[in-house]
Amino acid sequence: MPSYVNPEKCDGCKALDKTACQYICPNDLMVLNKDIMKAYNRDPSMCWECYNCVKICPTQAIEVRGYADFCPMGATCTPLRSTDSIMWTVKFRNGMMKRFKFPIRTTPEGSAVPDGGFETGSDDLHDPVLFTEPASTGMDAVYTK
Ligand code: SF4
Ligand code: SF4
Repeated sequence: MPSYVNPEKCDGCKALDKTACQYICPNDLMVLNKDIMKAYNRDPSMCWECYNCVKICPTQAIEVRGYADFCPMGATCTPLRSTDSIMWTVKFRNGMMKRFKFPIRTTPEGSAVPDGGFETGSDDLHDPVLFTEPASTGMDAVYTK
């Protein structure tokens, strides 16, 4: 099942220029209907079920089926993020609820360095060449043409 927005929970991200689900979807699927301030998935057949929109939605309005490796068929999975952890609420078909809380970072929020401490600098984040190249490709130089 692709992502589905529960209109009763969606508040349109309170009319921000771009909603959280629009910002995060790698497939550019989420659209905001500004007349009613509700988001929706404009092409469910293209949804990868990647969970990005589910996890970023501040009102827990988006649902996707749970993957079979962590919840049984028919259960719903709702995430609640905090700055250092995420808690999943799994609701089973028989009504039973279980909650699982996991840490999501090893550093305080806002303290991550873009180069991950590899001292490659942050100026070339948009460079298509990997910082390990050419060594990791076994070449003697980086050939870009
Ligand atoms: S992120 Fe959630 S609340 Fe915001 S527009 Fe999308 S579905 Fe609605
Ligand atoms: S589950 Fe992933 S691909 Fe599908 S709408 Fe959400 S962010 Fe986009």
